[in-house]
Amino acid sequence: MTKDISPQFLFLPFITAVAALLLSTGLQAEPSGPRQANVDARRILAADDEPGNWMSHGRTYDEQRYSLLTQINEKNIDRLGLSWRYDFDTHRGLEATPIVVDGVMYVSGSWSRVYAFDAASGKLLWQYNPQVPPEWAVNLCCDVVNRGVAVWKGSVYVGTLDGRLIALAASDGSLLWSVQTTPADKPYSITGAPRVVKDKVMIGNGGAEFGARGFVSAYDTSTGELIWRFYTVPGNPAEPFENPALEMAVTTWSGGEWWKRGGGGTVWDAMAYDAELDLFYIGVGNGSPWSREIRSPGGGDNLFLSSIVAVRPDTGEYVWHYQTTPGDSWDYTATQHMILAEIEIDGSQRKVIMQAPKNGFFYVLDRETGEFISAKAFTDVNWASHIDQTTGRPVVNPEAHYGQSKPFMAMPGPAGGHTWQPMSYNPVTGLVYFPVMSTAYPYMLESGFKFQSFGWNTGNDDLVTALPEDEAQRKEIKAMLKGWLVAWDPVQQKSIWQVNHANIWNGGVLSTSTNLVFQGNGEGYFNAYSADQGQQLWSFFAQTGITAAPISYAVDGEQYIAVMAGWGGGVPLIIGGMLTDAANQNVSRLLVFKLGGEKQLPPLKVQYRELDPPPLEATPETVQQGKVLYHKYCGSCHGNSAISGGLLPDLRYTQMHAVWQQVVLEGSLRSRGMVSFDQVLNQEDARAIQSYVIARAHRDKANLEGMTKHEK
Ligand code: CA
Repeated sequence: MTKDISPQFLFLPFITAVAALLLSTGLQAEPSGPRQANVDARRILAADDEPGNWMSHGRTYDEQRYSLLTQINEKNIDRLGLSWRYDFDTHRGLEATPIVVDGVMYVSGSWSRVYAFDAASGKLLWQYNPQVPPEWAVNLCCDVVNRGVAVWKGSVYVGTLDGRLIALAASDGSLLWSVQTTPADKPYSITGAPRVVKDKVMIGNGGAEFGARGFVSAYDTSTGELIWRFYTVPGNPAEPFENPALEMAVTTWSGGEWWKRGGGGTVWDAMAYDAELDLFYIGVGNGSPWSREIRSPGGGDNLFLSSIVAVRPDTGEYVWHYQTTPGDSWDYTATQHMILAEIEIDGSQRKVIMQAPKNGFFYVLDRETGEFISAKAFTDVNWASHIDQTTGRPVVNPEAHYGQSKPFMAMPGPAGGHTWQPMSYNPVTGLVYFPVMSTAYPYMLESGFKFQSFGWNTGNDDLVTALPEDEAQRKEIKAMLKGWLVAWDPVQQKSIWQVNHANIWNGGVLSTSTNLVFQGNGEGYFNAYSADQGQQLWSFFAQTGITAAPISYAVDGEQYIAVMAGWGGGVPLIIGGMLTDAANQNVSRLLVFKLGGEKQLPPLKVQYRELDPPPLEATPETVQQGKVLYHKYCGSCHGNSAISGGLLPDLRYTQMHAVWQQVVLEGSLRSRGMVSFDQVLNQEDARAIQSYVIARAHRDKANLEGMTKHEK
């Protein structure tokens, strides 16, 4: 741990003199604590009394993402315009929810960087770069994103991609302390926002695609000392269990040696706190590897994978759990946003927790006990027919338990029916607003799966997931992928309205007490709709796809709407080529709107490139071998079928063929995040991948000939 001496120490003699003067005159300053980000439990619990601030991730501890501000409403929204913007010098996905306290905005960007702005003028007050090594990006499934910071009593907390939890002084961004929260030699990462509860900062982590064991940790906000850690899956049963709940959990694992590959269950995004019940809820992720057949061949539910778990915030002691996907084999995480609310069900007020996890069902649970209340499919689902009302368990399609012989085309796929994009619950309409995806994905067990110390370890056959070579077939698949914004009634468990988007990958949601819903989308538009009917009322073209959730705040009586715009995240990275071209560019910026705002964006620069591959000299067999290796080691970043989603280099266009071996095997571009793959590939393999990329470029050059520039 380190502690920097901050510049204001230089003024100590002056401050002491002023204090002495105040004491001598009998006027004592209020014991008000730090001037910046002076947030504590009292303020967050009474957040509705100061609706101009957005002091925690979901605004309030119940994470409803509902604004009580009223200045911007249905009647005047046509006057909403850009007040200020900040363009970041990074070009990767932005997923963060800003925090605003007393006129200062704190927000995280790509590479876990943190920024503080004057929330009214947009002036950058300070920035902090945790210097994440670029080569760590190979340990991330879903882009170098960060979903936000937390603030508490003058400090700003951020989790970094390489597993650190960092506390900064809100006054100037200087480092207060830093702790490594994950084993530094294992492929863990942090992209989720911390939550602060009772002077403890809670942080999870990710890495289940690579081989990780999930846990959530609580650290002392002032010292960074570890207070408790809750593991979500059992370790080696021959060794003592870290908590008593794992003794119960281990009885649901059977026959495998899951602990050697971590087992999964990472808590990579949602958490929520209920002060009244003193419960802290964590959303637990998928199994590692994906298939239960590998982890636990004797079957079983594999607790606490794909579950919501309630623990005590003081100790991490287990209280209850509900598992959304028993025996998960499909990357159906339950890490998605959890909203706490009181709603009337069958004539009685219930304290509920609501989630729309990846598996495609919308859940309403009793949050005192974890009792199942109801669940209905909100998107196309075929892995289970329904959730049994008596047992609260899914009725699983037997074909969904895929093997090695043929793929099961599951709906949803691993991107989920809904993933991390925050939802919004509007207590006036009683509706939950969130972006929905309809996707399908072929699951087939990889034959002869061997756990590797490097790269993805899902156990899924990489080749069956490769998109077809034929352009017409690819277009058919593209047309099947659907995305929309839904207004979901959690009592009736049904859609009230929906707005269809051209893209599947769209933004998180904000709703307001003035019947407004704000959402950005993958086409680059930031829109407002009426909350009761879904009528589009306003639109702004951001020039880049939006995935983050907006917030609203006020400074000096002026209401603002803010959103991080910047295309990226897992879906664009992996299947970006299947999305619409308009969004396939990243302009990383923070946009802030107010009534009468008149700022304009600079003109958009769009560059068209021509495919110009070298001659293809390899045999079809070599190209096929390259295709297999490409989808095993390259496709998760450079895009399925060598079509990039606009974030990382599209290898069909690369001009680096002469230095291919140095880049792939010697790590010559390590400083830009391209690590050496010499642990898993030899020279012949690297050449085969190069041949596949060249073949893909020739194929698409032929496909594109005759198309207009616009279509390209
Ligand atoms: Ca996952």
